[in-house]
Amino acid sequence: ARPLIALVGRPNVGKSTLFNRIAGRRMAIVEDEPGVTRDRNYADCEWDHRAISVVDTGGFEPGAPAEHAPDRLMRQVREQAQLAVDEAAAVVLVVDGRAGLTEVDRSVAGLLRRAGKRLFVAVNKMDSGGTEAEAPLSDFYELGFGEVFPVSAEHDRGVGELLDAIVAEL
Ligand code: GDP
Ligand code: MG
Repeated sequence: ARPLIALVGRPNVGKSTLFNRIAGRRMAIVEDEPGVTRDRNYADCEWDHRAISVVDTGGFEPGAPAEHAPDRLMRQVREQAQLAVDEAAAVVLVVDGRAGLTEVDRSVAGLLRRAGKRLFVAVNKMDSGGTEAEAPLSDFYELGFGEVFPVSAEHDRGVGELLDAIVAEL
């Protein structure tokens, strides 16, 4: 079977943008399941002659804006992360390099650390590689995941380096 790479993280960090960037134009399969697994998207793709699958996470129950229910947001993001971890060979924790680290990021990182899977941190929205709007990369080493990868999913920066590192460890 193809090794599965899971993209996890809180809403709005750019998981889906990164997923689309990785998947390219290849067809993504949209799973239509109820509950927390809805909206999970899988794509088969290839990197460096390795066949991989990527899963985007982030299904949220309609009618409950996440920003109005911080506890619920935390719970949902953790549930999504746990589901992804259970089935994935490697997990990419996506964080927002403009917003900096948040409590939800730290909480999910703790859950991932305990899972014992290969972990990568993608610091997204690093569009320019070091402007005042972007948090210093060193902030993200605090998560304790070793290397962190600055990326801009939107501008296609750093995504190749991230994928190189992932497939090197599969
Ligand atoms: P998700 O909720 O984690 O799946 O995040 P989305 O992929 O839906 O993106 C959330 C928002 O962040 C959207 O407005 C995106 O356009 C924006 N975004 C995603 N990637 C980048 C990036 O690399 N740079 C910037 N500046 N914005 C981004
Ligand atoms: Mg999304």
